[in-house]
Amino acid sequence: MDWDGSGVRGLLTNERYTGDVLSRKTCTLDFRSHKSVVNDGHKPQYYIENHHEGIISKEDFQRVQDILSQSVSTAKGIRKKTYPLSKRLKCTNCGANFHRQENPNGKVDWICSTSKKSKKLCKMESINEEQIEKLLKEGFYKRYGDNITTDGNRFKKQLMKELMNAEAARDREQNLLRVKLEKILIEENKAVIDGLETGPIKEKRIALEKQIAERATDWELFDRDEAFRRKALGKLKDLQGSVQSINRILDISFMRAWVIRIKIESPYLFTVKWIDGSKTVAGQFRRRYML
Ligand SMILES: [Zn+2]
Repeated sequence: MDWDGSGVRGLLTNERYTGDVLSRKTCTLDFRSHKSVVNDGHKPQYYIENHHEGIISKEDFQRVQDILSQSVSTAKGIRKKTYPLSKRLKCTNCGANFHRQENPNGKVDWICSTSKKSKKLCKMESINEEQIEKLLKEGFYKRYGDNITTDGNRFKKQLMKELMNAEAARDREQNLLRVKLEKILIEENKAVIDGLETGPIKEKRIALEKQIAERATDWELFDRDEAFRRKALGKLKDLQGSVQSINRILDISFMRAWVIRIKIESPYLFTVKWIDGSKTVAGQFRRRYML
């Protein structure tokens, strides 16, 4: 687990992942509409320890809870200067973040922090920021396909709509996954109580929990990017809707509003993960990397 990123927060603030379940935290009132409401006394509430096999230990859970409650008050004062790509470039070779490095000629490189320590630990090459921008732009073009080159005005509207709806879309997805998990847990609980086979339900639940954990890490990053979305929206508002004018504003800090993370395979091959969870591969596999 990546203890460095506070992405673990979304995962660890949910007691479910440790195997404990606060039963009937929400209870389904209307079975026809499947509307779930927070249990405020409609039904009894009880805490079941070790209800299912948790994916992290309770000790780890508590430790991170403690860290989290501290960091809220202290993080503000000690925040280091961050750049649009800070902590968003991941080395696929070793899993570390890329660090920014300013060269004497004024150009900026990004280098895998492990590889910076020693090439023996990770052989990932450093990447010029211009190259990152080029590949990110390629990814952006791939994401929007023909829309980007055919009708500038329509494309502008599409981008603005996406940014304006981003938070609502994130909340919708989160709620949907929560309700799904809730249903499976109720089903699993019932199977346990009725003495039925729980294997398949458990498998389903574990798969869903993995999906939620992954998205929770993404959402944590997404929530910190409000400023990028606001700025990009501002730029779009002032823009003429021509293809050329949009093309001109496609720099890293603008496109960053759509980016959750970039996984770097090599200086020539990236996978961009976007705010909606979709992924785009940019660049190409170079023959020399096969050797
Ligand atoms: Zn690396």
